[in-house]
Amino acid sequence: MSEYALEDPTFLDRPGEACGVFGVSGDDIEAARLTYFGLFALQHRGQESAGISVSDGENITVYKDLGLVAQVFDETVLAGLPGNLAIGHIRYSTTGSNSWENSQPVFRHFGWNAIALSHNGNLTNTAELAQATGPLAATTDSELMAEAIAREMTEEGMSLPDALSRTLPSFEGAFTLTVMDTTTLVGVRDPHGFRPLCLGRLDDSWVIASETAALDILGAEFVRQVAPGEMVIINDGVLTSRFPFDPAESRLCIFEFVYFARPDSTLLGQTIHKARQRMGRRLAIQAPIEADITVPVPESGIPAAQGFSEASGIPYVDGLVKNRYVGRTFIQPAQSMRERGVRMKLNAMRGVIEGKRVVLVDDSIVRGSTTKQLVAMVREAGAREVHLRISSPPYRWPCFYGMDTGDRSTLLAAGRSVDAIAEHLKADSLAYLDLDHLIEATGGDADTFCTACLSGNYPTDVPVTDGKFLLERSK
Ligand code: AMP
Repeated sequence: MSEYALEDPTFLDRPGEACGVFGVSGDDIEAARLTYFGLFALQHRGQESAGISVSDGENITVYKDLGLVAQVFDETVLAGLPGNLAIGHIRYSTTGSNSWENSQPVFRHFGWNAIALSHNGNLTNTAELAQATGPLAATTDSELMAEAIAREMTEEGMSLPDALSRTLPSFEGAFTLTVMDTTTLVGVRDPHGFRPLCLGRLDDSWVIASETAALDILGAEFVRQVAPGEMVIINDGVLTSRFPFDPAESRLCIFEFVYFARPDSTLLGQTIHKARQRMGRRLAIQAPIEADITVPVPESGIPAAQGFSEASGIPYVDGLVKNRYVGRTFIQPAQSMRERGVRMKLNAMRGVIEGKRVVLVDDSIVRGSTTKQLVAMVREAGAREVHLRISSPPYRWPCFYGMDTGDRSTLLAAGRSVDAIAEHLKADSLAYLDLDHLIEATGGDADTFCTACLSGNYPTDVPVTDGKFLLERSK
C-alpha cells in the first residue's frame, strides 16, 4: 500500500456512499414535489448529483444537475415538472466520474414511449454488457441498463414490466432500481437484494424509496420492504408483483446497518439507531478498557458510543463538535489547511477533553485518514490517552456492490494487523467489533448479509480488473 495515499488527508477524503432512489405514483398529486422531499430525506446516501423525472401521462421530463437536492431544485424548477408519476435519484459515483452526463435518472426515448431509470448499486458484469451494447454517450452501468431496457421496448406495445422481465436477468451485481415509462412505475431489487428498497402508501398513492426515512418525511405509511429479486409494478393505482430472476440467497449489505442508512430508518424490522446502540454495547463487553469519558465521532459514532457508555459505565461526553454545513462548500481549502482537513468537519473541545483518558467511538475506519487526524486532534486537545473502539470489523476488502471504497491499496486495514493499525493511527489501543457480534446486533441472520468488505466473501463473481473508470477508458 502506498503510504502517500494514507498520509494525504485530502479535504473530502472519505469513501463514497451508496446512492438513493425514489418513486411515487398517484392521482392528482404533485409527484415531483413529493420526490423532492423524498430525495431530501435520502441526501445522506449521496451528494454529487440529484435528479427527478416526471410524467404527465404523455411525456417524461427529466431535470438533474450536480449538487445537493436543495441546490438543484427550487420552486420554479418544480413548477415546470407537473405530473402524477415521478422517480428521483441522488448520486454518489461508483462507476464513472462525477459529471452531468452521469447524473440520474437516466432517460431513453424510443418513438412510441420513453423510460427513465434510477439505480443504486453497481453491476459486476459491466464489461460484458458494454461489449454487447456498443459505444454509448454515457459512462455508467446505469446507462447500459437503461439502454438494454429501451431496446427491448422499441417493439411497439411491449410493456415496461415485460421489457424488464426480459432484460433484468442479464444484469449481475447490485441493482436496486426505480424505473418508469409515461404511465407505469416499477421498483426492483436484484436477486441478492444488496441494497434496500421499501414500499409505502400515501393516501391513494404508492411510494417506493431506498429507506423508510423517505416515507416518514412525506407522512407515508410503511407497507413492507420490497423483497430481494422482486419487481413491484404500479399501474393505474394497482400494485402487482413479479419475480423475474432465478432464486438467490438474500445478501443485504451489512454496511447499511453499520453506516449508510439513516438511524431513523428501519431495515429487517429493526430501527437502525437501536441496532447501532447494540453494536456499541457489545463492543464494550468484547473490548473493555479503563477510561474517563466515552466520546462519539459525530454523527456516525453517536449511537454506538451511547451503547458503549451504557455497557461500560464510562460517561458519555460530546467532546467533538461537527460543523452541520460540512459538504456544502465547494471551495478547495488553502494548502495550509489541507493537513488539518478534518477540522473543517470536526473540532475537539479542550474544556471537556483535557486531562482525560478518552474512548473514541466510531462506526468504521475505511481509509484511515479522518481517524488518524481525529486521534491527533483529541490528543492536541489535552487527552491523556486515546483508545479507539470501532463498532464494525476491519474494512479489508473492496466493495463491488455500490460503495466506492476504491482499490485495496486505499483500505487502511488491508494486509495490516490490528496492532499495526493502532500504531499507524497513533492510538493507545484499538479494538474492532467482531463480525458475529455485529451480525447479532443487527437482529438478522448471518446468511442474510453481504459481508464482503469485512470478510472477503463475495456472494457473486467480481470483476478482476474492473475499476471505476472502466467505461470511460474503453471509449
Ligand atoms: P477514515 O478514517 O478516513 O477511513 O474515515 C472514517 C470515517 O468515515 C468514519 O467516521 C465513518 O463513519 C466514515 N465512513 C464510513 N464509510 C463511509 C462511506 N462509505 N462514505 C463516507 N464516509 C464513510
